[in-house]
Amino acid sequence: MKQLIIAIDGPAGAGKSTVARILSQRLCYTYIDTGAMYRAIAWQVLENGLSVGDTDAVASVAENIAIGLTEQDGRQIVTANGRDITEAIRTPAVTRAVPHVASQPAVRRAMLICQRQMALEGGVVMDGRDIGTHVLPTADLKIFLTASIAERARRRWSELTAKGHIVDFTALQEEIAARDKADCERDVAPLIQAADAVLIDTTELSIEGAVEEILRLCRERDSGV
Ligand code: C5P
Repeated sequence: MKQLIIAIDGPAGAGKSTVARILSQRLCYTYIDTGAMYRAIAWQVLENGLSVGDTDAVASVAENIAIGLTEQDGRQIVTANGRDITEAIRTPAVTRAVPHVASQPAVRRAMLICQRQMALEGGVVMDGRDIGTHVLPTADLKIFLTASIAERARRRWSELTAKGHIVDFTALQEEIAARDKADCERDVAPLIQAADAVLIDTTELSIEGAVEEILRLCRERDSGV
């Protein structure tokens, strides 16, 4: 059976990580959440009391950090230099900081090397913003997962309030729109649908529906699934 390389890109809140995780479990593949990697760098920058605008300091963090991504009981555990930061990287402060860090060329260079290395053996589902366009341009299957901004904001609001964060829906929607803009308009590896990616809109499609559609595309690519 061929071990496919599957790239899933799209904006925040489109369901990428949920879909990618379920897909990797169904296929017994490795799931690589590249957003968590950029979040880990942003977290370490804040933790060290550095400014996100200090490009030399941020580059040094990106080049020296050891990021761990592992699965435990169906849950992703993220570590930075051995410290569990699974929850810490999801705070609003890290979310606000991450696009500033992710737009820096040295950071992207460091992550590109790591991420390509992680996909070498195949049998991976990698999600992010630039996977199909830059990190794995020869991926066997590329998906661009999206949804309306209102629906994406609604999902993030439910996720955050379930964790006890108090969030204003309108402010959250504006923050997501600003993050989309920053991700789409940056000079290095912007968020854009690869020419050969399949567009899946989850505004009115369930997670299960999206997973089934991707599994069907995998079969089409003769994966033996
Ligand atoms: O996917 P998630 O929302 O966790 O990603 C957080 C941020 O990391 C994104 O808003 C984006 O700025 C950055 N990112 C990126 N390239 C990737 C994955 C994430 O620039 N491949």
